[in-house]
Amino acid sequence: MVGLASRHLQNLRRRDFVAGAALIDGCWIAGENRDVVVDPATGEGIADVAHCHVADMNHAIAAAERSFQAWRELLPARRGAILKSWASLMLDHSEELATLVTSEQGKPLAEARHEIAYGAGFLEWFAAEGERAYGETIPSHQPGSLLHVRMQPIGVAAAITPWNFPVAMITRKAGAALAAGCPVIVKPAPETPLSALAVARLAVEAGVPRGVFQMLVGDPIELSKPLLHDTRIRALSFTGSTQVGRLLLEGAAETVKRVSLELGGHAPFLVFDDVDLDKAVKGVMAAKFATSGQDCLAANRIYVQKSIYGSFVDAFAAAMTQLKVGHGLERSTDIGPMTKVSVANKCRIQIEDAAAKGARVISANQDASLCPNFVLPTLLSDVTEDMLIAREETFGPVAAVLPFDSEEEVVTRANGNEMGLAGYVYTDSLRRALRLSEKIECGMVGINTASFTGPPIPFGGWKQSGLGREGSRHGLAEYMELKYVCFGDVLA
Ligand code: NAD
Repeated sequence: MVGLASRHLQNLRRRDFVAGAALIDGCWIAGENRDVVVDPATGEGIADVAHCHVADMNHAIAAAERSFQAWRELLPARRGAILKSWASLMLDHSEELATLVTSEQGKPLAEARHEIAYGAGFLEWFAAEGERAYGETIPSHQPGSLLHVRMQPIGVAAAITPWNFPVAMITRKAGAALAAGCPVIVKPAPETPLSALAVARLAVEAGVPRGVFQMLVGDPIELSKPLLHDTRIRALSFTGSTQVGRLLLEGAAETVKRVSLELGGHAPFLVFDDVDLDKAVKGVMAAKFATSGQDCLAANRIYVQKSIYGSFVDAFAAAMTQLKVGHGLERSTDIGPMTKVSVANKCRIQIEDAAAKGARVISANQDASLCPNFVLPTLLSDVTEDMLIAREETFGPVAAVLPFDSEEEVVTRANGNEMGLAGYVYTDSLRRALRLSEKIECGMVGINTASFTGPPIPFGGWKQSGLGREGSRHGLAEYMELKYVCFGDVLA
């Protein structure tokens, strides 16, 4: 396993994809200091990247501000053509980008390829949606006036992106900002800068003008400070933990920025006894183990009705033991390493806590040859609400299953949490599906499906899972200001 990622990176056709240079004002900056990028499956250093500082960020903010006027004045169709060309370059380089994602993030290569297509999809979708920022005409409330509402770009935007979807979370934010007419500065996660910087190279090749798209890597706290405090940054979009989201919201208050936050989830997954068991198990496998469990949509609290509880747990355990753990670059791998050892450790603490409080632990034997970033797929049955795993987000391949009696009871339990990103309901009853789609307190609900995300949907959470939406026309609106114009006495 050791050396696998390095060998793959050495064989990349595009050597510049591993140059690790930041993109500031149209120039590739190698930086005086460099940070090492690590393969999470082995702990081995595989490349290094520029370590940018506050002065670099200030330079980038000034360049973005300079580029704003020309970019906003470009016809939306022209901006769209550039975004489409960027998307097609991403698809042309899918294999190389996916190799970078797997090497630094750890997810299986097939999932990384899927992420590249998913990420390119946001650019294509916003390329078209930018032409549809229609605004409104309002029937007047006073004689003779004409009332218009226009949508105009908000100004320079900043995007702070996570390591679990190192490519798609960039294009979901940047696609919307650029289509709206806003320059954008991206600060990717320090764990996964290679795929991000490769995508930035393709943006330049697609014709995104100097200063309109920039990317700086370095210490998150240092680099986020100027983004928070500079008045020229008008919008900030972040994906990551609720804890960091709260800090950024507080920091952005000083300059009253538009803030969009995609934060943690703790998705309830409800399985009723009228459902086809195989279908429910297939759904929960997808909703729990995609991205090796490091997904804000992951099924975290799997509530199963008591009459089918035993058979569901048996079928789920049987499916889970088929999962192959290994390096994401190995063809047979289903579950890769956790990108950060802290995330793996949090999983272990949750497993130990649940076991100590009486949960039944069903897991493959720990493989001592694997590095500490690996967590073997684990099923915890008979979980109770007092266990850590029921109360806080799990970001790994650990599944918590809890029995329930009635619909009313499970809705109260599912909603009894400060997180509200996604929820899942598996039932054969149309009436129940409709009732629950109304009652579940989440931004997104999947009924009899674990697959619902994509460019046209408003992705986002309720309660402490976030603010605002990404994707869809609502995602474009995050980067636009409304301007109401009243033409007085024009119709008299
Ligand atoms: P995190 O919130 O610390 O990191 C997310 C991103 O925020 C990182 O890429 C980092 O660059 C940046 N960041 C960290 N501290 C910052 C700060 N003070 N100022 C500005 N930016 C900062 O999360 P983590 O510790 O890497 O992961 C732990 C938890 O975060 C996970 O268990 C999960 O709950 C959550 N998470 C959620 C998502 C998501 O898709 N919603 C993605 C990643 C992590």
